[in-house]
Amino acid sequence: MATVVVIEDEEPIAAAVAARLRSEGFDVEVAADGPSGVAVVERTRPDLVVLDLMLPGFDGLEVCRRIQKERPVPVLMLTARDSETDLLVGLAVGADDYLTKPFSPRELVARVHAILRRVDRSAEAKAAADPAVRTLRLGKVALEPATRRATLDGEPVHLTPTEFDILTLLGDKPGVVFTREKMLAEIWGYRDGFGARTVDSHVQALRRKLGAGVIRTVHGVGYAAGDDELSPKANPPGARGVPEKLRGVPGKNSP
Ligand code: CA
Repeated sequence: MATVVVIEDEEPIAAAVAARLRSEGFDVEVAADGPSGVAVVERTRPDLVVLDLMLPGFDGLEVCRRIQKERPVPVLMLTARDSETDLLVGLAVGADDYLTKPFSPRELVARVHAILRRVDRSAEAKAAADPAVRTLRLGKVALEPATRRATLDGEPVHLTPTEFDILTLLGDKPGVVFTREKMLAEIWGYRDGFGARTVDSHVQALRRKLGAGVIRTVHGVGYAAGDDELSPKANPPGARGVPEKLRGVPGKNSP
């Protein structure tokens, strides 16, 4: 069963989250400050980390940096206010999803399951892919889905699991415009259309790391793979005249 580390200094919240996750069958470890949180993650190598932003010792941003340095691990970040989430979005932190307090334990568990399902799917894709033939290119960025390695101008670049999945989704279908709802359904497994801001945050993070041209915004529609050779304002094929089928509600006909 999957292991989840909960790093949260507010005891009632930590206890409620841990109890709910345990009742769902997860192995749960709890830490109450930044340094011990990092230590617990290093010791247990969890499948996912639930991470509060404001912590004693050092904050969730620093925890996120330290635990992601060694190996990519999915992070669900807890914030006290929407404005904090906006701030994190601007900082391009590398969390896979955000939840603003107060939240229901049910909502948290749904998010945890969604993130873990996505990581599982990525692992299957990894097993199925042939590295020799599967290298995706978006301008100066090269992606190897089989190894989840990314390079920019030939230099290795660190991407979080979510960032990698977004680039793979867009890069696999150059010229196709994805709505935020479609991206949420494909990457996060969300079917309710909530979380558009989450998509925007990861796109911002990717542009920060890889250059503004890596992903194009198609106003009023969504995002598409960009091309560093073109200016972001250029209109390459596919930017205009989005096919009608892309405007449909995504995921409704999925089995
Ligand atoms: Ca706190």
